[in-house]
Amino acid sequence: MLAEACAVKRFCDTVDTMSEQQLCTRCKKNPRPNNGSDPRRRWCNSCHAAYVKEWRAGRTVTDEGRRRDICRSYANVYKRRGKLVPPGACEWCHEPGELQMHHPDFDRPLLVIWLHPACRREVEAKGAVLDQGPALIREVAASTRSPRRKRSEILAAKRAKEGQ
Ligand SMILES: [Zn+2]
Ligand SMILES: [Zn+2]
Repeated sequence: MLAEACAVKRFCDTVDTMSEQQLCTRCKKNPRPNNGSDPRRRWCNSCHAAYVKEWRAGRTVTDEGRRRDICRSYANVYKRRGKLVPPGACEWCHEPGELQMHHPDFDRPLLVIWLHPACRREVEAKGAVLDQGPALIREVAASTRSPRRKRSEILAAKRAKEGQ
């Protein structure tokens, strides 16, 4: 076992004194990295690389999923800041209760329709089209960007200031 570790890592000097604790806990064959990397790491470099590869393979994120996640986390920041506030009732069944954010368009994180968790599942499963009217008004209100002024308005304001 130790001879094998030696052949791979060429740790001839250290292999003799190497205890079981200094071996990779995953393959129990290779020595643990001893080159200034994280001392808490109990796996050899090849085991760690294999682990990272497996981990990534199990988490293939589709582009749609990524867009959805970015959209939701963006909206959550606005919710925490109190810029996105749920209305008094679910916008599907019109009953009060705990509401969740539903995004009809992942490219517009501030366009939010508030639904009960169960209603949201129903809407998303059916692909139901909801009235976006109130959500469109809230989207504008939630945006922190000040409304764009026209060039003529900027110049008029400048002239008014100079005229004083
Ligand atoms: Zn290993
Ligand atoms: Zn509802």
